[in-house]
Amino acid sequence: VSREAAAKAVVVIEAIGAVIDANADELGRLDSIAGDGDHGIGMQRGAQAAVVEARRVAAAEAGVGTLLGLSGAAWADRAGGTSGALWGEILTTIGARLGDAEPPTAAALAEAVTQSAAAVTRYGGAKVGDKTLLDALVPFAEALTLAAASSPDSIRDAWAASVAPAEAAASATADLLPKVGRARPHLEKSLGTPDPGAVSMALIISAVANTL
Ligand code: ADP
Ligand code: MG
Ligand code: MG
Repeated sequence: VSREAAAKAVVVIEAIGAVIDANADELGRLDSIAGDGDHGIGMQRGAQAAVVEARRVAAAEAGVGTLLGLSGAAWADRAGGTSGALWGEILTTIGARLGDAEPPTAAALAEAVTQSAAAVTRYGGAKVGDKTLLDALVPFAEALTLAAASSPDSIRDAWAASVAPAEAAASATADLLPKVGRARPHLEKSLGTPDPGAVSMALIISAVANTL
């Protein structure tokens, strides 16, 4: 079991909790424009539960795969809402791909993130362009895959190179019309505002870059 990777994962999940806390009001405001306004509070509940679980699992000397799997389950359990279930899927899928035995490589992480986007697609039935968090996650996964090919030895460099594409893609959702979820009946209200789940995705991707 790679203890170092699990310790790093705790820091990553703590950073996710912190960036969500700092932006919870803004995420709620974005979700109130065409949704039900609970995206900030839901993400906060989920991320805080994940932080508690990550610390507990790391103290029990588990590996990064187990840690991410259990943290994802705690997130989905406590968050409620669509995004909570999807973030649970994302973390458990990444954990399953990384496993406990080896320290993750950039290539393994890129594959894990790509698989998490596939899991979200399976679970939620949305596709790119439907104005969901997939509109940030898929471009991020693609950028990370390319960056991992040129920086195979550095997760930090590969991730850092993929932050700007994710942020640009999240901002660009302002021009999209929602095809799924609670924003679907509010087409015209949503236009001009980015998707809250895509915005929180980009915030998390950017915050994680600072921990790697
Ligand atoms: P809820 O919509 O249940 O209130 P949240 O407000 O926490 O949950 O999350 C809303 C976000 O969830 C949306 O902004 C969007 O990014 C994401 N979302 C909703 N439905 C889907 C789906 N089918 N696939 C992917 N993401 C989705
Ligand atoms: Mg909502
Ligand atoms: Mg809701």
